[in-house]
Amino acid sequence: MTLGSIPLPPPYSQAGTSSQRFSLVTNFKTFTTMAEIFVGPKETRFLVHRELLTHHSPFFTAALNGSFAESISQTVKLPAENPAIFELCVGWLYTSQLDPLVFFKDGKPAYYTLLNLYALADRLALEALRNQTIDQISDLAEQTNSVLTPSDTRILYEEIRDNAPLRALVIDLFAFKKTDKLLAEHPDDWHQLFLRDLTVYLKRPCAASLLRHSLQLWRPVSWQVTKACDECSRVLEPGARASACVSCVKVYCLRCLQRGEGKAGFETGTCRPWKGARCRLYHEHRETEACEDLVMGRGRE
Ligand SMILES: [Zn+2]
Ligand SMILES: [Zn+2]
Ligand SMILES: [Zn+2]
Repeated sequence: MTLGSIPLPPPYSQAGTSSQRFSLVTNFKTFTTMAEIFVGPKETRFLVHRELLTHHSPFFTAALNGSFAESISQTVKLPAENPAIFELCVGWLYTSQLDPLVFFKDGKPAYYTLLNLYALADRLALEALRNQTIDQISDLAEQTNSVLTPSDTRILYEEIRDNAPLRALVIDLFAFKKTDKLLAEHPDDWHQLFLRDLTVYLKRPCAASLLRHSLQLWRPVSWQVTKACDECSRVLEPGARASACVSCVKVYCLRCLQRGEGKAGFETGTCRPWKGARCRLYHEHRETEACEDLVMGRGRE
């Protein structure tokens, strides 16, 4: 039994962040003030339109619109930040895009740049940039079939807050890709807390295991065409209510679906949480509008 007759949903889409709705063309003529940002120990100077900074960032809104000394001089100092990473951030402010080529070094994915950009976006309260960084990391991992290096896990666990959804994405990348050999044989040390989190995650059922699929209602019509639940391995009785993935054709019984969780493990399937449920699992939408585009046919929830 295949589900070949069911049309596939549209491919997953990128973060529909509020930044895309902030049109430079219509807003540029209202930009009046430049803010001076001094970044790093050498105080590298950036001139950025104030309206762009305050539109995207509550941090800059407080600094530039408030009654602090910064708002009078329209100057902000960020001595602890890296000017090269801040420059990526400024590029994003003006284009609402990240150039994927920047995230390669010597032909290899440079996850550390993306991690540092995420950390900066967190400190500057740029939620839309964080979500786009999530998209970039997901796409990079998918296109190059790679994951982070041990030194990347140190950035993740030492520079980025504990409850950042980026950590969940990275754990999912390791849990749902075939990474056992890499983990065992890499000459460098993985961050201890990363290994702890990954071990605990693999031992417990998780929502991402089911959310990665594009599930539709399915009932086996007879014993000849039935299948076993991919989670609990019970063979489904004819007529039993179940769900099947229109993409990988795995089937789940009602009981497992109601529990809402499954085991993350090494497998070859193409359904991955960062494709099937990216917005729900890894984006934040407290300050930005939720993604409107369909995500593997799931739509907005
Ligand atoms: Zn699937
Ligand atoms: Zn089951
Ligand atoms: Zn989203």
